[in-house]
Amino acid sequence: MERRKVINDKNGGDIRRFAFGIRTVHSIYRFLINIFYPNICPCCEEIIDYNDDFCDECHSKLIMYNEKFYIENADLFTAYCMYDGKVRYAVRKFKYEPRGNAYYAFACGIVQALQRENVAEEIDEVVYIPMTRKAYSKRGYNQTKLIAKEIHYLLEIPCRNVLVKTHETKSQKSLGAYERRINLKDAFMVREKADVSGKCILVIDDLCTTGSTLSEAARALKKAGAKKVIAAAFAKTKGKESANST
Ligand SMILES: [Zn+2]
Repeated sequence: MERRKVINDKNGGDIRRFAFGIRTVHSIYRFLINIFYPNICPCCEEIIDYNDDFCDECHSKLIMYNEKFYIENADLFTAYCMYDGKVRYAVRKFKYEPRGNAYYAFACGIVQALQRENVAEEIDEVVYIPMTRKAYSKRGYNQTKLIAKEIHYLLEIPCRNVLVKTHETKSQKSLGAYERRINLKDAFMVREKADVSGKCILVIDDLCTTGSTLSEAARALKKAGAKKVIAAAFAKTKGKESANST
């Protein structure tokens, strides 16, 4: 992946410059960590090279996302692959166990999807879907934050804690499309001090089913003045297929 060009924002501030090249530094970190905790393929758990996302066999079985899916409030939606076969195992496992390589592999996938759409260069920062305190204490980590942090390194763009959840919501997994929308209505807002006005914001999720979560996040970002919101997920379910997701 080519290093992104440094582009000045409209106010003249260089918001993308990282003097020491965080992508390179992070790659060295991954290499060192790999000595003690070998990198594994998130689909089959075979040991792979420290900078690989999937093993060759699993990668060859991924079905690339090539559909058009509209998410209300977002200017664009894209995904890396379809939620199918071995991806299902990787995504489900990641929801309960953040070990291995899943968040790095998912981030690489999202970055490639953004590059396919030729929008990677215009993104000012990446934000993740927040969890309520209750949900966080139950799971112990926020999976979309882990992916967003990796995108921060790969694209060398800031990743900030911009969105907050305004109220507890029900688990989405047993709800239909309409109920999901109602459940998440006005569930997010932008933090008071997080200035997103005039920026192109990338909001990500690991899996997209109906798009309700990304749509509500995009609504909050647009309301706070974001110029453009790009929504992206690692995997997208086919049509109306239900999944343990949002
Ligand atoms: Zn594999």
